[in-house]
Amino acid sequence: GSPARPPHVAMLATPGMGHLIPLAELARRLASRHGATATLLTFASTASATQRAFLASLPPGIASLRLPPVDLSDLPRGAAIETRMSEETARSVPAIAEALTKMKETTRLVAFVTDIFGTDAFDAARAAGVGRRYLFNPTNLHMLALLLRLPELDATVPGEFRDLAEPVRLPGCVPIPGSAILSPLQDKGDPCYRWMLHHAAGCREADAILVNSFDAVEPEAAAVLRQQQEPGRPPVYNVGPLILTETDTKSSPRAACLEWLDRQPARSVIFVSFGSGGALRTEQMRELALGLELSGQRFLWVVRSPSDQGAVSDNYYDAESKEDPFVFLPEGFVERTKDVGFLVSSWAPQIGVIAHEATGGFLTHCGWNSTLESLVHGVPMVAWPLYAEQHQNAVMLAEGIGAVIPVPEPKRKETVAGVVKELMAGEQKGAAVRATVAELQKAALEGLREGGAATTALAEVVEKWAT
Ligand code: UDP
Repeated sequence: GSPARPPHVAMLATPGMGHLIPLAELARRLASRHGATATLLTFASTASATQRAFLASLPPGIASLRLPPVDLSDLPRGAAIETRMSEETARSVPAIAEALTKMKETTRLVAFVTDIFGTDAFDAARAAGVGRRYLFNPTNLHMLALLLRLPELDATVPGEFRDLAEPVRLPGCVPIPGSAILSPLQDKGDPCYRWMLHHAAGCREADAILVNSFDAVEPEAAAVLRQQQEPGRPPVYNVGPLILTETDTKSSPRAACLEWLDRQPARSVIFVSFGSGGALRTEQMRELALGLELSGQRFLWVVRSPSDQGAVSDNYYDAESKEDPFVFLPEGFVERTKDVGFLVSSWAPQIGVIAHEATGGFLTHCGWNSTLESLVHGVPMVAWPLYAEQHQNAVMLAEGIGAVIPVPEPKRKETVAGVVKELMAGEQKGAAVRATVAELQKAALEGLREGGAATTALAEVVEKWAT
């Protein structure tokens, strides 16, 4: 007979490079280990140059398909990104169903995967008769534990999370102070709060939940989520860390910041970046600059224009700063630091930087992809969380496993300089964090090998496609 067609997987990536990148990595892993092909569905609202370049670099066998635009003009200007992503998904359900139906005609479509903000698309997959429907959580088990408990927390927590006297305790999780809980849950009157509750219910519709984490980084949460089979809760598979690799993003000519790193001593540079959407307030940006200078350490900083409206900038949808970010730096800063610092505007080839031997630390917003990239390369972190689940990530990484040093409040140049020096050269906390991260690196790499935990977990999911 004719050779069997490869299994095909459709994946919906809601806006944000932090969703697209790990889903693409999941697709690569399914392709290389299990002979699958995949289509990444993306929204019309995220057609930035960064995203287009990324999609164009995907290997054959991983296609992408941009959904037709939907009208979002009725949403208030200040609508939260979580609201925008959720509305865009909900309004795209007919288009997603149509795309999946067409895909079934030309491929052996075995599964549909969506990230957390796309749970409405399960309706589309059901309508198109796609056999298996998975939720992909691009962040960690702590975030999943929170989502799974959210209906109960909604019913029992009076007032706002940030006003709670006691931290939120979730099974197997590091206690999280209310003010550090996921940012779209911080204002119960905002539509994004309702949307998160909606997605919390949507999670339970999945046949399985794939999580981009690994046991060593949150061991107790992993044990709890694997052991306690609660009725109505899909099985949870830790399939991470799925991260970009350098070869995925190699560009020629080589980026100037990487050439600068080539000239720096091993492990001497701290990389400073706040992900694809993070923006500092003008005042914080100033303290950071002066703090880096005061630390005396070498640094490579992805500078983005500040935003005094909130911690997430317009860049979330479009990674390039609208204005020249360098004009916001303190007077004389560039000149004074030119021998030790290198500045990049808006977007850097981050994985190339983290993998570089000159990089010895990362001052990060604790976005989960950035965190995993750092751990896989054994780079210890200073935590400066901004929004989304970044504050809770910072708590879990600092207090759970000790992989980061948080910048203490209030964030001033002296405190920034202090933690940067401690991370790079300190013999107390710095040394402990560096040692912990070296251990986590080993565990992460082990899990991805043949027979490793992540490899086995994904194989278990794929096995079911044959039945
Ligand atoms: N990234 C990059 N260059 C940048 C900023 C981000 O390549 O200048 C990549 C980074 O390596 C990571 C992703 O974009 O893979 C950001 O995801 P993360 O979860 O860390 O943060 P988010 O952007 O979702 O806040």
